[in-house]
Amino acid sequence: MPDLPPLEPGKRPDEAVAKGRPNEETSPIVLELRKVTCAYEAGRPAISDISLCARKGDILCLLGPSGCGKTTTLRVIAGFEPVIGGEVYLQDQLVSAAGLLVPTEERRVGMVFQEYALFPHLRVAENIAFGLRHLSADQRTTQVHAMLAMTGLIGFERRYPHELSGGQQQRVALARALAQKPVILLLDEPFSNLDPDMTGKMRQDLHDLLRRTNTTAILVTHDHDEAFAMADRVAVLNNGRLEQFDTPEAIYHMPSTPFVADFVGQADFIPGIVENGKVLTEIGEFPNQAGYQGGARVVVMIRPDDIHVIPAENCTARILARQFRGSENLYMIGLPSGRVVHSSEASTSVYPIGTPVELQIVATHTVLFDRDANPRSST
Ligand code: ADP
Ligand code: MG
Repeated sequence: MPDLPPLEPGKRPDEAVAKGRPNEETSPIVLELRKVTCAYEAGRPAISDISLCARKGDILCLLGPSGCGKTTTLRVIAGFEPVIGGEVYLQDQLVSAAGLLVPTEERRVGMVFQEYALFPHLRVAENIAFGLRHLSADQRTTQVHAMLAMTGLIGFERRYPHELSGGQQQRVALARALAQKPVILLLDEPFSNLDPDMTGKMRQDLHDLLRRTNTTAILVTHDHDEAFAMADRVAVLNNGRLEQFDTPEAIYHMPSTPFVADFVGQADFIPGIVENGKVLTEIGEFPNQAGYQGGARVVVMIRPDDIHVIPAENCTARILARQFRGSENLYMIGLPSGRVVHSSEASTSVYPIGTPVELQIVATHTVLFDRDANPRSST
């Protein structure tokens, strides 16, 4: 779970932090997708009605489960796939629409794929220089050197890709893409081939590099921790549709659909009924922030960080299981109805299975949904 600063009362969590973001809302828009639809087979769109935009220097993440359309969205932006509906603009130029496809080589997009796609028979420096044939030899040498320095690859220029670690290969792929001064950098699951021990450091390095070079980037990932760590804004995709496009904080605290709530972190969904301006549930009352009418059947989404347990005799809720996660204990709590909720406790709070507990709810980021919206049915 991300550590978030305490919220100022009355502020949306994203507002509380948005001011600290380096990209002013005044930066020029580099990329815009308007209601983009792309289909590999007639009548079966892989992505539908996707709208999003990136400003200069923004890092966007496309987040969602396998098959939701992340790679397709990148391929559309790169000009590898035509669209059947909607428009793509790069720096205010229309590059894709039904019947229009500006070729990839005219788009100035940089790409880093999952497998890096380095040329195995070319040395590091030659790989980086590959797209720079339009420059003079001197300019090319200077540019390659600048890229080697920027990505920490000085000393490796004469190696072949197979003589490098996964992380170094990734840096060559980045250097090769950035050498061409792309208007936007597209990265498809760039950490998936790396040793998990290394991904934390590599994420930080990539984030620093993108910020230092004020590079606009779209990064694809199925990992919400990665999206939260990297992105200024996250686009959550599900079944080819955009469910939410927002800051990481808003995605986590104010998911706009049950799918998003469930995909980006542990969430429990507790049925409730609206009565006298409150939502009544088996674990207590919640504010009716969304203003549902009396009698409305809703579900309350609650995160484990907002449920605390206190061992107490004569309580009907019981601890069913404990997962030790290092910095926390995640408890599964059985309610009398048979429903299960989760509670995050300090790593030192260890209670035996079966302990009767009282639940204390700190409802800082509960969200209400219609009862009929089932999070798992949409996956
Ligand atoms: P993701 O990158 O999120 O895993 P993709 O964009 O690769 O998802 O795929 C989205 C959907 O399009 C999936 O249903 C996938 O099976 C389908 N798809 C992807 N590539 C092709 C292709 N070349 N031909 C036909 N269908 C494809
Ligand atoms: Mg993919």
